[in-house]
Amino acid sequence: MDIVLITAPVSRPCEPPAGLAKLSGILKDHGVEHLVIDANLECLLHLITSGEPLHAQDTWTRRSARHVEKNLRSLRDGTAFGNMGAYIKAVTELNRILEVRSKSHGVHVSLNNFTHMRRSPVKSADLLHAAEHPEDNVFYPYFLKRLQALLEEHAPGYLGFSLNYLSQVLTTFAMIGQAKILSPGTKILLGGGLVTSWMRGPMKTNTFAGLVDEIVDGPGEDRLLSLFRGETPSRISLPEYGGFQTRDYLSPGSIIPLSTSTGCYWGRCSFCPEKSENTRYCPVPGGAVVSLVRHVLKKHSPALVHFCDNALSPSIIASLAREELPSPWYGFAKIIPELADPDLCSSLKRSGCVMLQLGLESGDQGVLDKLGKGIRLETAAHVLKSLTRAGIATYVYILFGTPEDCVGAQKTLDFVSRHQEAIDFLNVSIFNLPRYSHDAANLTTFDFSEGDLSLYQGFVHPAGWDRNRVRQFLDKEFKRQRSIARIVRQDPPFFTSNHAPLFAKR
Ligand code: SF4
Repeated sequence: MDIVLITAPVSRPCEPPAGLAKLSGILKDHGVEHLVIDANLECLLHLITSGEPLHAQDTWTRRSARHVEKNLRSLRDGTAFGNMGAYIKAVTELNRILEVRSKSHGVHVSLNNFTHMRRSPVKSADLLHAAEHPEDNVFYPYFLKRLQALLEEHAPGYLGFSLNYLSQVLTTFAMIGQAKILSPGTKILLGGGLVTSWMRGPMKTNTFAGLVDEIVDGPGEDRLLSLFRGETPSRISLPEYGGFQTRDYLSPGSIIPLSTSTGCYWGRCSFCPEKSENTRYCPVPGGAVVSLVRHVLKKHSPALVHFCDNALSPSIIASLAREELPSPWYGFAKIIPELADPDLCSSLKRSGCVMLQLGLESGDQGVLDKLGKGIRLETAAHVLKSLTRAGIATYVYILFGTPEDCVGAQKTLDFVSRHQEAIDFLNVSIFNLPRYSHDAANLTTFDFSEGDLSLYQGFVHPAGWDRNRVRQFLDKEFKRQRSIARIVRQDPPFFTSNHAPLFAKR
C-alpha cells in the first residue's frame, strides 16, 4: 500500500471529507494504491455508542443514552428532519453523550468542535505534547486499535493526515504520535487547508521535523502524484467516495461534497485568507464542470450535492442553470447582479438548487466598499427577493466588528430586518483580523493568544467598536429583534449550513 489518507476528529460528521474524496479520485486514476479513513466519523460514533456506561449520570444524560440508536436512525432515515423540534432533540441528546464522555478527559467534544481545557491547538509545544502522549486523548481507545490494524494489514509506506480545522489539530497530532510509536518507519505527510495557512503565515519551515516527515503546502494532489508517479495531474479526475462509509454519516441519504474550483474567482475581500495567502484561483475548465457534476451524480445518486467552492463563479452558476440535475444542490455564491434576474433564479431552481449561501457581511454600503466585497446593497436586496420568489432558500452571512462603527452595525440590523422575509438562515460572527492581512499594517495590533501558530490577532478598533461592544450589541439588540431572532432560531444546531438545505427542501 502506497499511502493511507486520514482525517481526524472533530468536524461535522454529516458527509465525506471533500479533500480526501478529491485526492482519492486522483490517486485512483493514476494507479496509486491507497486507502481513505474518515477517523472523524469513526471516532465520534465510537465515543457516542461505545464509551463508558452512563447509568450513574443525571436524568438528561441517561435519557440521551437510552435514545442513542433511535436518534442516530432518525438523522439517517430523515425522520428527525420532519420538524425542527424533533431534530433539535436528536442532535442535542447525541451531543450530550459526547460532552459527558469527553469531560473526564479534560476536553469538550461536541458534534462540531473539540476544545481542550489546558492545551491550545495553535501552540506548537502543545501539539508536540499531544503527539508524545496520545494515551491522554479522549479518542485513544479507538484510534489505537484502528491504527494497529491498519499498519499491520496494509503496511503503508506513508500516512497522510489532512488537517483543515483547529478542532482537529490536537487529535491529529495524537494520532501521528501513536502512528510513530507503532511504526517508526512509516513516513508521515501533513497537509490540508489549515496547514497551508500555517505555511503561508507563521510556520515557514517544518516545525514538527522528526515527527512529521513532510508538510504539504497547497493542494495535495500535485505533491502526491510527484511522490508516487513522478508526474503532475494532467487530466480531470472524478472525486472518489467509495472508500467512505456513506451510510454512517448523520444525514438522510448520502451528501456528496464537490468542488469546481480551488481559491476564489473574486479574491478581493480584505479580511479573507484567500487574499492574504495569495491562493491561486484554479477552476475546472468551463465545459468540463457540467460533465463532472453529471458523472458524479450518475455514479452516486446522492440525496444532496454540496458544492464546496469558496464561491461558485458567475459562469459556473450560468452553466448549472442550463441543466436539470437529478439531485438537489447547494453552495456558496457571491452576491452578483445576475442573481437578481428572476429568470436565472427560476432556472437555478429547476436545475436543483435548494439553497445558496451568500456572504453579505454588512448592511452599510461604506463598510462593504472598504472590505472590497464588490456588492451593492440594492443588488443584494434584489438578489434575496429573486431567490426567495424562485423557491431557493438563502443562508446569509453577516460579519460584525469590521471597519464598521456602531452606526454601521445598526444599518446592518435595519437591512436584515427589512429583508427578513427573504432570509431563511443567518450566520452572525465577529471579525477576526488575519495576522498577515495587508490591513493589519495600518492598525494597532496585539496578540490575543500565546500560540505561535495563531493566524489571527487582536486590534484596537479605530472607532472603539471592539469585540466586547459588538458582543453586547449582538446579545442586547441584534438577536433580540423579533424578526431576526426568528431567523436565528431556524439555524440547525451543530450542523448549521450543512443541514439547513434539508429543511429548506421541505
Ligand atoms: S468572495 Fe468569499 S472567498 Fe472570495 S474573497 Fe470574498 S470572502 Fe473570500
